[in-house]
Amino acid sequence: TMPELTMLEVRGLGIRFGGLDAVKDVSASLPAGKITAIIGPNGAGKSTFFNLISGFYQPTSGQIHFLGEDITRLKTHEVVGRGIARTFQTTTIYKELSVLENAMIGHRVRTRAGLLDALLRTGRERQDDQASRAGAMQALERVGLAGQAHRLAGALTQEGQKRVGIAMALSSDPKLLLLDEPAAGMNPEETVNLMGLIRELVAGGLTVALVEHKMSLVMGLADQILVLHHGQKIAEGTPQAVSRDPAVIEAYLGS
Ligand code: ADP
Ligand code: MG
Repeated sequence: TMPELTMLEVRGLGIRFGGLDAVKDVSASLPAGKITAIIGPNGAGKSTFFNLISGFYQPTSGQIHFLGEDITRLKTHEVVGRGIARTFQTTTIYKELSVLENAMIGHRVRTRAGLLDALLRTGRERQDDQASRAGAMQALERVGLAGQAHRLAGALTQEGQKRVGIAMALSSDPKLLLLDEPAAGMNPEETVNLMGLIRELVAGGLTVALVEHKMSLVMGLADQILVLHHGQKIAEGTPQAVSRDPAVIEAYLGS
């Protein structure tokens, strides 16, 4: 068999807020083409871990390598440009804009200097618009929303709006997609649909990392699971191994 390609590698990653180690000394590898779930009780440091990888926070210790390149100190739009995109725990779509316009904003974040620039449309932007539109339409196709491109994003169901958020991330054509609690607020049927979508994206070549606090939700989906507790990695492995790990069970019972 082929040796596994590592998409992302973090070593000794940490960040302190005042006296709190929100993430502490976390080392992990995310294999290419796989689904890695980051689980742990509320406040474990899961979202902060994503904020570090995506350049929203600067770590106080450790390194982040993406496809062999040190990206530890890169800015958010530089990280997106390298091929890492993310969604947020709370929906951040623009409800008063169309589905397509939302996806186009995602595309602009990659090609322009940043989100603010993406929103403040200045000067020579006609050609950019064409590229954004094509990239955005492609992303909408991948999440099954191409037929609803011209609807107001706010008019979509909860599930539809989540898909818009994923399309915004996909429109930068990432290699690695970070999903922060994508199933939050979804009913069981919507959750099953979302899991199907994630599997399809991975079958198409994407690498996915997703944060979730419900262990049951990622059991049938993840190739590997990292468990955070009080900012530290307390376990990692297959869903089966992790769900039987006494340290993990204790962390969940105590939370
Ligand atoms: P999770 O996503 O696992 O629920 P978070 O990563 O959001 O947890 O938070 C981990 C810890 O870090 C929490 O105690 C939280 O209050 C703290 N934290 C996160 N972001 C900040 C910040 N910007 N400033 C101060 N504390 C923060
Ligand atoms: Mg969180």
